[in-house]
Amino acid sequence: MDEEHIALYPFASEVSAYVESLGVSLESLLNSPAFRRSRARGMERVMQSIEGEIEKSLTKDESWLLSETLSYPFAQILVACIDDQLFTKRYALKEAEAALKWLEKESTDFLLEFGEDFGIQAEAEELHFSMHFADYIRFSSSIREPIWKLTNRQLKSGMVVVTKKDFVRLLQEAIKERIEKSFPAPKIPSEISSFCAPYVAEIKDHFEIHKKKFGATDFGAVEPELFPPCISHALANVQGGVNLAHSMRFAMTSFLLSVGMSVDEILNLFNVSPDFDAETTLYQIEHIAGATGNIYKPPACDTMRTYGNCIGRDRLCEKINHPLAYYEKKLYLKNREKEKGKEKQEEEERGKEKQEEKRKGKTRRKVKGKEKA
Ligand code: SF4
Repeated sequence: MDEEHIALYPFASEVSAYVESLGVSLESLLNSPAFRRSRARGMERVMQSIEGEIEKSLTKDESWLLSETLSYPFAQILVACIDDQLFTKRYALKEAEAALKWLEKESTDFLLEFGEDFGIQAEAEELHFSMHFADYIRFSSSIREPIWKLTNRQLKSGMVVVTKKDFVRLLQEAIKERIEKSFPAPKIPSEISSFCAPYVAEIKDHFEIHKKKFGATDFGAVEPELFPPCISHALANVQGGVNLAHSMRFAMTSFLLSVGMSVDEILNLFNVSPDFDAETTLYQIEHIAGATGNIYKPPACDTMRTYGNCIGRDRLCEKINHPLAYYEKKLYLKNREKEKGKEKQEEEERGKEKQEEKRKGKTRRKVKGKEKA
């Protein structure tokens, strides 16, 4: 690989040997002013992975190529310090997506060689690639679209025929898997975590803001005891490890997002079954939350009834036609009760103050009477 490719694909196997050959110690990467640019770019990589896309450009400038290459190990250190499985998965996904854009422009020979680095044995045939079915299954199993099922593919003597676009897409999965597997890194020494602490704090803050962005918080703090019966029932099922029908899963997730729960809070609700798949669930929640441009709202009661999801209807349900309206009404009633309670308390306090005033007035009059006498 030349230096440009090394900067573009710093997770390729040969890059570690290249970085070692540069003689850059971990200590100098962390402390030396000479690597300030690498650290800044490493931080930027991580922040961009939160925002949605790691942007990569390419220049032939040697010092730029070096700092771009070294920014990757620094970003890895930061992600390791954050030590959050979900965050790691997100970072790996975004690095792999960023690589995909460049891989699409690469030559067939480069792609074949790049694939070999990930153990993919493939051949190029005119406009197509053919790869061993085991490699195909290994990297396509995490892609959800039905077209990726082996049964929907052309198979010739144990080899699967794919287009260049598909081959690159599988390389994206291979990259993601490699980056994910590179964590958890060996336990981070305390001096490194102390050095990274300010960066890590900033990343965590940024991540929190990003998570909130997906939730509509118009309702204020989330109050689960006010949820409509259908949603409470679904929540109880999820907590009990019962799998929800797709329509109910969608209704519950979109409802929770609408009342202001964050993506991660919802993800944690689903994290109860032994076969919990964080990545798939995260994808589904973010999809509903609008990660792909469409923000999905929860279905109305009529639709809930059509799919058999209107469960536990109560008296308030007769007055509303949408689960969100139920929640809104309950909030209104609760706040009204609170207000009433507050008014009553204030009234009582005013009454006490008046009595106190009266008592003081009486005492003053008595004292004045005695003085006159
Ligand atoms: S009437 Fe609407 S809010 Fe009430 S349980 Fe049915 S779907 Fe839920």
